[in-house]
Amino acid sequence: MIISAERKQSIERAVADPKLQLAVYSATARLKQKRVEAVSPAELPDYQQLRECAHQLKKHALENLDYYLEQFEANVLAHGGKVIFAQTGKQVGEFIATLAKQRGVSLLVKSKSMTTEEIHLNEALEREKLEAVETDLGEYILQLAHERPFHIVAPAVHKTRHDVADILSQKLGVQREEVPEHQAMIARRTLREKFLAAGIGISGANFLVADSGAVVLVENEGNARLCVSAPPIHVAVAGIEKIIPRAQDLPVFLKLLARSGTGQRLTVYTSFLSGPRRAAEVDGPSEFYVVLMNNGRTKLLADSSKRESLFCIRCGACLNACPVYRKIGGHNYPWAYSGPIGAIITPQYQGLSQDPWLPYASSLCGACAEVCPVKIDIPRILLELRHEVTREERRQGKNGLERFAFRAYSWVMRKPKLYAAAGRAAALGARLPGMLSLGPARLWASQRETPKPAAASFRQLWRQRQAGRLP
Ligand code: SF4
Repeated sequence: MIISAERKQSIERAVADPKLQLAVYSATARLKQKRVEAVSPAELPDYQQLRECAHQLKKHALENLDYYLEQFEANVLAHGGKVIFAQTGKQVGEFIATLAKQRGVSLLVKSKSMTTEEIHLNEALEREKLEAVETDLGEYILQLAHERPFHIVAPAVHKTRHDVADILSQKLGVQREEVPEHQAMIARRTLREKFLAAGIGISGANFLVADSGAVVLVENEGNARLCVSAPPIHVAVAGIEKIIPRAQDLPVFLKLLARSGTGQRLTVYTSFLSGPRRAAEVDGPSEFYVVLMNNGRTKLLADSSKRESLFCIRCGACLNACPVYRKIGGHNYPWAYSGPIGAIITPQYQGLSQDPWLPYASSLCGACAEVCPVKIDIPRILLELRHEVTREERRQGKNGLERFAFRAYSWVMRKPKLYAAAGRAAALGARLPGMLSLGPARLWASQRETPKPAAASFRQLWRQRQAGRLP
C-alpha cells in the first residue's frame, strides 16, 4: 500500500498531538453518545425500519434519477425559479461569477455546504475578485484561519475555545474573548453586516424534493435561512444525488438526519425553499437558481456494486464512530469528505491511483455501517476498493514481497500440521529477546503492545482437556 512520506508524517503528527487528540476525541464521543440516546428504542422505536426505508428510497431515486431530475426541474420552473445543470465544479464557479458580474454583485454570503467545499467554490470566486463569506460559525472561523473543514457536520471540531479566541482577535482585531457565547456575538456582529450588504446568498441543499421542486435545508444557527432570504438572489448548489421523490418521503430522512448527526430530534431550522418571492410575500429573493452538479457522480451511479455510496445524507455519524478518523483527524483525508464516507467516495470521484491508501484507512470494525442511517455498506465497499488497489499493484508488478507473504500465509493456514508448527516457531521467536526489533517486525511492533505468548497454545490446552487433564 502506497502512502506518501508527507501524508505519513502528517498523520504521525496528528496522532502525537495531545491537544488535537483530546479535542477530537471528546467532541466525537459527545456526538456518538447523543446519537445513541436519540435512536434508542425508547426514543425512536421504528429506527431500524426507518433506516431500511431511507435506504430503499435512495435506491429508488438513484435508479430513476433522470425521471426525478426532470420532474424537479419542471416544478422549480413552475414556481419561477431556474435550474442549471453543471457537469463540473468549474462550471458552477463560472455560472455564479458570471451572474454576480452581470448583477453588479461583489459580496456573496454562503451557508455551510460540503458540495461547495468539494469544488473549492470560495477560491474560484476569489480568483474572480468576488468576496464570498462563510456564515456558519464553524465555517467562518475556519475561513478566517484559512483551513478546510475537519468534520462534515462540525467543521471546527478540532478547535478549542482558546484557538477560536486567538483567531478572532488576530483576524478581526477585536479583544480576545474566551467565552464561547461572547465569541459567537463577535462573529454575529460582523456577519450581520455582510448579510445585509450581500447581493447573492449561496446555499447547499440537504434534499431536493422532485414532486414539489423544493430545496430543503436543515441547520441550527439560522444563518442559512438569512443567507437565502436577505440577499436579492439565492443560488442553491446541490449534487444530483440529493433528489428524493416525494415531499411525503421527507419525514423519514428528517427523523434520521439530525438524530444521527447531532442527537437532536430535529435541527432548529428546517427550511423549504421553492422559487423566488411571490407577489404577496414580504421577504425572500427576487431571483432563485438551483445548480444541479454532476462532478463525477454519474461515474459512481454507473457502478452498481458501489452506487450506494451516493445514498449518503452527510450526517457525519460514521466519522464519530470511526476509530481511524478519531485518531488521524479530518485534515489527513485528502479531500473535502473525511472519515469512512470520505475513504469510499474520494477514490471513486478522484481515481484510486491518487490516494490508494484511503481504502486501508479503516479497521473494518463495521462501526460505520452500524450507525449509517441510510445503511451504506461501507466495509464492503472498502474491501472492493482494496481489491482494485491490489489488482492494479499486481498489474504494475508492485508489492511482490507482500503478495508472496500472504500467499505463503494462506498456504500454511490450509495445512493444520504446518500451521501448528508455525505457531510454535512464532511463539518461540517472540520469546527470544530482540526478535521484534528485526526487519519488518520492528515496524509492526513499534506501534503495538506485544504481549508475551501464552505458556501453552490453544491446541495444547485443548488436547489436555480432551485427555481429562484440564477441567
Ligand atoms: S455514510 Fe452514512 S453515516 Fe456516514 S455521513 Fe453518510 S449517511 Fe452519515
